[in-house]
Amino acid sequence: MSEIFQKKGDISVETAHIFPIIKKWLYSEKDIFLREIVSNAQDAITKHKRLISLGQTEDDETPYRITVSIDKAAGTLSVDDNGIGMTEDELIRYLGNIALSGALEFIQKYEGDNPEDNKNGIIGHFGLGFYSAFMVADTVEVITKSYTDAPAVRWVCRADGSYELYPAERETKGTTVVLHVTDEESAYLEAYKITDMLEKYCSFMPTEIYFSDENADAGDEAADAEGESKVPAEKKPINDTYPLWQKAPSECTPEEYKEFYRKVFRDYREPLFWIHINADYPLNFKGILFFPRLNNQYESMEGQVKLYYNQVFVADNIKEVIPEYLLMLRGVLDCPQLPLNVSRSYLQNNTYVSKVSAHIVKKVADKLNALCENERETYESVWDSIRPFVEYACMRDRKFYDRAKDAILLHLTDDSYVTVEKYLEAAKEKHENTVYYTTDKEQQARYISLFEGQGISVAVMEQLIDTQFVQMLESYDGTVKYLRIDADVAAALTEENSDTADNEALTALFRKVSGKEDMEVKYQTLKDTTLPAMLTVSEESRRMEEMMRMYAMQSGGEAPEFPVAYTLLVNNASPLVSRLSELANGDPQKAEVIAGQIYRLSMLSQRKLTAEELNTFLAESFAVLSML
Ligand code: ADP
Repeated sequence: MSEIFQKKGDISVETAHIFPIIKKWLYSEKDIFLREIVSNAQDAITKHKRLISLGQTEDDETPYRITVSIDKAAGTLSVDDNGIGMTEDELIRYLGNIALSGALEFIQKYEGDNPEDNKNGIIGHFGLGFYSAFMVADTVEVITKSYTDAPAVRWVCRADGSYELYPAERETKGTTVVLHVTDEESAYLEAYKITDMLEKYCSFMPTEIYFSDENADAGDEAADAEGESKVPAEKKPINDTYPLWQKAPSECTPEEYKEFYRKVFRDYREPLFWIHINADYPLNFKGILFFPRLNNQYESMEGQVKLYYNQVFVADNIKEVIPEYLLMLRGVLDCPQLPLNVSRSYLQNNTYVSKVSAHIVKKVADKLNALCENERETYESVWDSIRPFVEYACMRDRKFYDRAKDAILLHLTDDSYVTVEKYLEAAKEKHENTVYYTTDKEQQARYISLFEGQGISVAVMEQLIDTQFVQMLESYDGTVKYLRIDADVAAALTEENSDTADNEALTALFRKVSGKEDMEVKYQTLKDTTLPAMLTVSEESRRMEEMMRMYAMQSGGEAPEFPVAYTLLVNNASPLVSRLSELANGDPQKAEVIAGQIYRLSMLSQRKLTAEELNTFLAESFAVLSML
């Protein structure tokens, strides 16, 4: 039957300008056309609901639904809704015009710029949403019937901007948009492609969305005697219309959070914990943020925070909404106050966005404090995993540190955890305002046992970031000092009124056997008399050296030689040292052998011996043994 059209027309814009630009701009993110069309369907349903609530129309209680179907044989992709629909007038007004005062000017102005930045902006701005269909279709049909008594109409629009209007048969309110997909874009007729896109953009939309593959479903329908509807009754919607973030936190169970995390991020490891944000007026946004479980500190810190607009997916990894230092989080944020089509530049300079970001920072810090205070066991069990993030965040943002500082734990060598405050409180008598730490439990084992023997707790700081973190802690809080255990043994291990008399003869002897003429040699009376001497390393010069090494590593170059200042601390309380003093006068040769052994053993306990020194040490040791 040949149809007679009622009206003909042209889209009232210089379409010759618009369409190629739409194509060009959206090229890299073509998939969003489906989001645009399905969002329009959702909007039409929302509008109908609103009319009911305003008493302007009857509620016939038909469930709302959106159906996306592909028909490969016909070459079409359709989106059907039972929303508000359009009258003929509305259709021409809304779709026959691309709303645009100044749109062309805008387009021309930005045409030369980075399309990545502008494409979302312009499309949202000028309501080109529907026209994004022309990225994949050469003809788009709209069959629509308004919720009013107005007759149904069919509108056929081509990529050159020309359109025709026909009367249509549709009985029920709503709209079907039919895209006649071009040959080049025939991938958009594949079920896997469309289900993928629906999953990405529409997984949480508030109206049930059904997917139907006409060719694949044809068999099912034939079997279904009553198969009136395109969707077989047992079919499930592809989306979750009431996503977890919309619920009150008190209504959600841990299992639900874990399940949601698994589904959305496809990560089968359980998240460490989560934060459910439900911000009221004036921020008005909801979201759930998860701390992911990572295998090790080297695993990618790249998280994934998805931005939604009224349950419609907008963008991934929105660096502008979440501070960079919290980007390892995974989660969802639903901000109905942002437009559906947001550009990065819009987000960057938006005061609302920066308030959202500040709110998130506050919530993360609050959560850490709450866990630390009320769920200590859980918190301790995750602390080592979250610690690099927390430390990094503290370093990047003083405000975050100020909020979260009471939730910073020290992991002690005995595997217990303690807050900095509690550590300092316990240390008050022995070493006020000093936190002792080790950067290598193995290498510094000797020192650790000495400190532990004196009842002094030692914090383990073995990660790369720790040194910088410690430096930051000192600069934020001027009074507390962090010392590696080999930096200042004397303060912890000497008796009060410790005898610090120098012994010039011994100093000369140690300098000689070490081959270091300017080595600093200090004398103290240590509590442990079995220990003749030990090396200490100046905290400042060691940190300097570590920093230089890190810069060198980052820039890929060799670390410059940086002399670290060692001090040989000789124990006046050691009988061996007294004996050595005597030998220095009586048997200088023997004294040299013993001094060499003492020096190199001290080096060894720090694993500081070079290959050459190790050889000397072995030779000396055999010589000593053969004296027996
Ligand atoms: P936007 O959605 O940004 O307003 P669009 O070009 O996508 O811009 O759509 C223009 C208008 O067409 C919409 O505002 C709406 O009034 C109307 N429209 C589009 N799709 C539908 C639909 N499925 N049902 C009812 N009205 C629709």
